[in-house]
Amino acid sequence: MRVNAYAAPAAGEPLAPTTIERRAVGPNDVLIEIEFAGICHSDIHTVNGDWGPQPFPVVPGHEIVGRVTEVGSGVSRHAVGDRVGVGCMVGSCGECTNCRNGDEQYCVKGMIGTYAATDRDGTSTQGGYSTHVVVDADYVLSVPDGIDPAAAAPLLCAGITTYAPLRKWQAGPGTKVAVVGLGGLGHMAVKIAHALGAEVTVLSQSLKKQEDGLRLGADDYFATSDPDTFEALAGRFDLIVNTVSAKIDLDAYLGLLAVDGTLVNVGAPAEPLDVNVFSLIGGRRSFAGSMIGGIALTQEMLDFCAEHHIGAEVEVIRADQVNEAYERVLASDVRYRFVIDASTLS
Ligand code: NAP
Ligand code: ZN
Repeated sequence: MRVNAYAAPAAGEPLAPTTIERRAVGPNDVLIEIEFAGICHSDIHTVNGDWGPQPFPVVPGHEIVGRVTEVGSGVSRHAVGDRVGVGCMVGSCGECTNCRNGDEQYCVKGMIGTYAATDRDGTSTQGGYSTHVVVDADYVLSVPDGIDPAAAAPLLCAGITTYAPLRKWQAGPGTKVAVVGLGGLGHMAVKIAHALGAEVTVLSQSLKKQEDGLRLGADDYFATSDPDTFEALAGRFDLIVNTVSAKIDLDAYLGLLAVDGTLVNVGAPAEPLDVNVFSLIGGRRSFAGSMIGGIALTQEMLDFCAEHHIGAEVEVIRADQVNEAYERVLASDVRYRFVIDASTLS
């Protein structure tokens, strides 16, 4: 089926309307009529070529929420009419140790990304800035009732990307968590860490968003442009989640960790980050990374968010505003996720 979409024609070019082909619904597939698609900074890194060459034209979008309109003959976990979500992953081998452990995102054969990846049939996957998508039912999540669908879309990437390390490093009552960068991922990290019971501090470039940060659940808020911040908070945190999309001075942030503390990088800037090992050995500290989360954990996160009445703070836009939204994300002028209303693509 031929459907409307917004695609980047080449690296760094503005996105423009187009049509793309979606495959016929196979026995284990689900056809989804997309309602909302979030704009993740990863979409921007990809289409700007920050992460290397891409199979243009690329339709970005891996924060997808919509309704099931057709299911294949072998599908039992989703039914026509269900509200569902699709995140960053639409396939993996299903057989390797990592897939069997529920870490499909670390599939040894490589997970199949929702866009700009090679699908099982050899075509390039195309993402959620589109009216419809056909996805293997095993990679389709159930969106619980009670979360607004526009606010649910960013959970499929920003939500799981922050939930996964917060759970892995056991954020909870008695732990002190810092979140670096209050953008799409950062604001979800604040909400989720707060709901998990941790004491949460935002480390943002300025104090411009302080009121928001405290309303979202932070206990404290500091500006990293103020050198006093790094003295005042030295040795304080058990866990730091770095969501920044650009290179930062990691050593300065590692100095904020307590003994045995961990700084987890989820931000994925184009440039390598430098670490002075003395920042680690001087406090038995760890520097780690984490990429999205497995399918079962993503469902757990959605259920957790529904139970705790957590959704993203979103600014819903028309598809023809996507290029302007990209500019605003790049300028750190997002509060806190742009979400495309897919009905404006029809
Ligand atoms: P975003 O909405 O643009 O948020 C990033 C925030 O980082 C900005 O709002 C800003 O916060 C801060 N920031 C930006 N430039 C900075 C600079 N030069 N110095 C210091 N701080 C700066 O982006 P996002 O969608 O949350 O994504 C963040 C990063 O995570 C991206 O690199 C993205 O590709 C990556 N990502 C990774 C995964 C994963 O699986 N690991 C998944 C999704 C996204 P303040 O204004 O508060 O300072
Ligand atoms: Zn993303």
